[in-house]
Amino acid sequence: MGAFGCTSCATRPVTRCGRCNCTRCEVHALEAGERCDRCENDWQDDLVTRRAAKLIFAPPLAIFAGGLLFGLLLPVSLGGAIGAVVMCTLACLTALAAGAGVCRLVDGSARAMFLREHTGGLPPARLLPSPPRQR
Ligand SMILES: [Zn+2]
Ligand SMILES: [Zn+2]
Repeated sequence: MGAFGCTSCATRPVTRCGRCNCTRCEVHALEAGERCDRCENDWQDDLVTRRAAKLIFAPPLAIFAGGLLFGLLLPVSLGGAIGAVVMCTLACLTALAAGAGVCRLVDGSARAMFLREHTGGLPPARLLPSPPRQR
């Protein structure tokens, strides 16, 4: 993508990125929950880290949830082939759901952290009293 090249963004800013404080003009104003191109690129780069986190956390939790359900249902089960098949299916489904839940949780909390980063409690977009002096 490269550097963002609109001069109005620097000279007549209306909003600023809540993460890195780079300014945006009216045309390129950022939506709530959106960050500037550079920060969104950072977010994309983080995908690898988040995938690793999912690979680390999802399988053990899935196994734990599946095993837990298996253990809970074991005393209730009447036994026999059909009971075992039903229990295995249920345990597998629970494991899948737990794994998917972890992945969603990682994504959700990571996005929240990404948006909160460096904001210092400021809203995502705000009116600037006057054009700030550039370095
Ligand atoms: Zn602009
Ligand atoms: Zn930014």
